[in-house]
Amino acid sequence: DYGPAPEDSTIVRDWLARHEEGFGHFIGGAFTAPGETFEVQDPAKGETIARVSQGTASDVDAAVAAARKAQPAWAKLSGHERARHLYAIARHVQQHARFLAVLETIDNGKPIRESRDIDVPLVARHFYHHAGWAEIAGDEFGGTEPYGVCGQVIPWNFPLLMLAWKIAPALAAGNTVVLKPAEYTPLTAIAFAEICAEVGLPEGVVNIVTGDGETGAAIVGHEGIDKVAFTGSTEVGKTIRRQIAGSGKGLTLELGGKSPFIVFADADLDAAVEGVVDAIWFNQGQVCCAGARILVAEAVAGRFETLLRARMETLRTGDPLDKSTDVGAIVHPVQLARIRELVGQGKAEGVTLHQGHAPEGCFYPPTLATGVEPASVLSTEEIFGPVVTLTTFRTPADGIALANNTRYGLAASIWSENVNLCLDIAAQVKAGVVWINCTNVFDAGAGFGGYRESGFGREGGSEGMMAYLRHKTPDGPGADLPK
Ligand code: NAD
Repeated sequence: DYGPAPEDSTIVRDWLARHEEGFGHFIGGAFTAPGETFEVQDPAKGETIARVSQGTASDVDAAVAAARKAQPAWAKLSGHERARHLYAIARHVQQHARFLAVLETIDNGKPIRESRDIDVPLVARHFYHHAGWAEIAGDEFGGTEPYGVCGQVIPWNFPLLMLAWKIAPALAAGNTVVLKPAEYTPLTAIAFAEICAEVGLPEGVVNIVTGDGETGAAIVGHEGIDKVAFTGSTEVGKTIRRQIAGSGKGLTLELGGKSPFIVFADADLDAAVEGVVDAIWFNQGQVCCAGARILVAEAVAGRFETLLRARMETLRTGDPLDKSTDVGAIVHPVQLARIRELVGQGKAEGVTLHQGHAPEGCFYPPTLATGVEPASVLSTEEIFGPVVTLTTFRTPADGIALANNTRYGLAASIWSENVNLCLDIAAQVKAGVVWINCTNVFDAGAGFGGYRESGFGREGGSEGMMAYLRHKTPDGPGADLPK
């Protein structure tokens, strides 16, 4: 039974109540007194649950200074010693797993089953995995050195998991960090800062500054930052790329997507329907690699649509803390309005909408759009909500053309019992990640990132580690001789 015990919510509510005056930033190993604050909401209840400080330029200065001061000693530690800190963080994340899962669900609106069974376990796993890299980094990545101080800005859809994706490799490689969580969902990052203090991470190695896009821009542009890692919208990613062009800063960007979900005539259709549930109704579709465009072979399209609509009817949308909920709350009323606006545009273009159920409030029903033209706004714009389009294709070549008809290229999912066909199609789809007969599978050991406007660089795997290291060609006598 993995539902939240009533005491879990009580512990979270007590923690929030203890910080009623507001949360400060975590700089140099300690929390600052709260400055000017903004409200953080529980979207499912529509209540303000906390007040969090709006990071100013001087807060960012202080955080960067703390990170700079800490970095040489952190990089000088042996890989084993850095690994011990990462293992300790992983263990403490596990110890506080229930607290973190409930806090994430209250702050973000995602179903407790997801935060408890997916987000938080993957966070711990990410730190364990990167502890391993820290142990062997000296051997595996010879001729490299850490960047120094990394400025990291993350979105609201997987608040703690995106933090882990950023902080774990940076620390393993010997960098220190200044991270800003998204303004809708800063609370698990603050809880994570408490864990850093609890495990005795040297002060200044991790610094968390809360705030909005202005705070993010101050981090990105700060001259004391050596590498920028950003996950968020393509629009802001482009701004950041322009902002630091010519600065010499390292950069990785994980941006938006409009990923195809391709179903061939010989696919196991029941499995593919469950795949759609994972692809677009996981985390209310607020997933950068969500399978948002179903492309289905004409021969089975009618049968597939019938099965999918029947499955959609059974999805339970509602209270995220209820363990039987499949689809939780949309992160914020602003995001809900954006989803409604885009679906409204689709409707005006003449698409047919099929919708499941959703309660009143900050919820949106699981939605399937049929009769969608490739140029329709629903086919081209990232909705970042529980809305999927269904389009048919005749030949594999048509399917590939439709799949690649996008400015994005983050992920793709292919469904067929013919493994040769799957591998052939996988090679032709322009996407950084291709899943075969599965979807939304993540592993800290596998690189993740996009083609085209979906990103720049990779996170996870050895590529993700390299993104936090700089090559240095050794010089001097004997440097080219075998060791
Ligand atoms: P967003 O770009 O609005 O915000 C992301 C973060 O950037 C927030 O912390 C925000 O405060 C900050 N920010 C805003 N303007 C900034 C600026 N000018 N300079 C620096 N920081 C700034 O995105 P969002 O709405 O929070 O997140 C949703 C987007 O993130 C979607 O487009 C989604 O596809 C993308 N995403 C991508 C991945 C991936 O790995 N590719 C993962 C998750 C989300």
